[in-house]
This record gives sequence, C-alpha cells and structure tokens, in this order.
Amino acid sequence: MNIRIENSIKALHKNHFKARFFENSETAIKALLQEIKDTDKIGIGGSMTITELELPKKLMERGNEVFFHWLETTPEGMDEARKNASKADVYLTSTNALTEKGQLVNIDGVGNRVTSMIFGPKKVYVICGINKLAENLDKAMERIKENTYKNARRLNLKTPCAITGICNDCDSPQRMCNVTTIIEKKPSKTDIEVILIDESLGY
Ligand code: SF4
Repeated sequence: MNIRIENSIKALHKNHFKARFFENSETAIKALLQEIKDTDKIGIGGSMTITELELPKKLMERGNEVFFHWLETTPEGMDEARKNASKADVYLTSTNALTEKGQLVNIDGVGNRVTSMIFGPKKVYVICGINKLAENLDKAMERIKENTYKNARRLNLKTPCAITGICNDCDSPQRMCNVTTIIEKKPSKTDIEVILIDESLGY
C-alpha cells in the first residue's frame, strides 16, 4: 500500500468512517457480495464505478431488490427509484473525490446521491478507485470540475463543458453542479464504509 493510500485510510478512520483497501476490484466485489445479504434492499446512486463493477447486475441476478434510477426509462420511474434507494438497507455509491484528510467531496445535479450518502439507508458503501484520491479540498474540487464534462457528454447534456471539456460555472438549465457536499466526518446516524480499490474506476 503506498503512502497516499495509507494516509487516506488512516484519515478516514480518524474521521470515524470504516475504511478498507483492496488491491483489485475482484476481491472487493467478492467481499461485498458476501457481506450484503440477498434479502437486503439495495439503493444505488448514479455512479460509473458501480456500473463498471457490474454490481447492479450481480446483485439482481442473485435476487436482491435493486433501486437504481439508471435502470429506469421514464422520469417518473427514475424519481421513484431515487426515493426507494434513499430508504434501502444498503446504498452503493462512489465519491467524486476522497481527500487525503479523509473527506468525501461530491457535486450533484439532482442531489439524491449526496443526500442518501448522509441519511436514509442503514449502510452506505462508498466504492472508490485510487484515481479519486486528492491531496486536499482544493485539489478535490479541481479533479471534480476537470471530469464533469465526461458525465455531461455521457448524458448528452447541453452544458458548456459538454462542448469544450472545460467548466465555465454555467447557468445552463441542465447544469450538473447544483449541490456540493463535503462529508468531513461520519454522519452520526449512518454507517458509512469506504472501499478503496487500487485501480482507476469511474471518473
Ligand atoms: S458548472 Fe456547468 S459548465 Fe461547469 S462543470 Fe458544471 S455543468 Fe459543466
């Protein structure tokens, strides 16, 4: 484990989060699937990491009830999934950035992902590749803003960053950066565990 990873894990523990490091996604997925009961209701926040790891598919195949708005086809269905996800037994998400001080930094358009990380589900797993590590809050914001255009393009949004690849702090009706959260220490009612994987996952 390199020093940045070690420091981040120590800082997370100091901030009262649970945190574990895995050398690869295969072992992380195996551990998660063992810990999550097949009777647990699963909520999932919009996340390329969770999608890349095929966790929605793996959980549904073994019988878990999964609420994930990316699997829905209508705006109403997506909102229903977001609401149900916020009350799930287990919530799976990533984080846009994890600082070496053990802070979770996120920017959301709707806000369902960040609110469900803080309160609602009984257990929250934040699954995070080492590409999300940032030295401090400034660097965390920098990395998030440098990567937001990828989500804008994926969603075919008409934001300036989707066209230029650069954030101009837009006023677009489709702006993705409406809510910024910094989870400094574990919120008192939520069991949050960070699963840090030594791979580049999501963006
Ligand atoms: S504020 Fe607007 S331009 Fe900047 S990253 Fe967010 S959506 Fe893109």
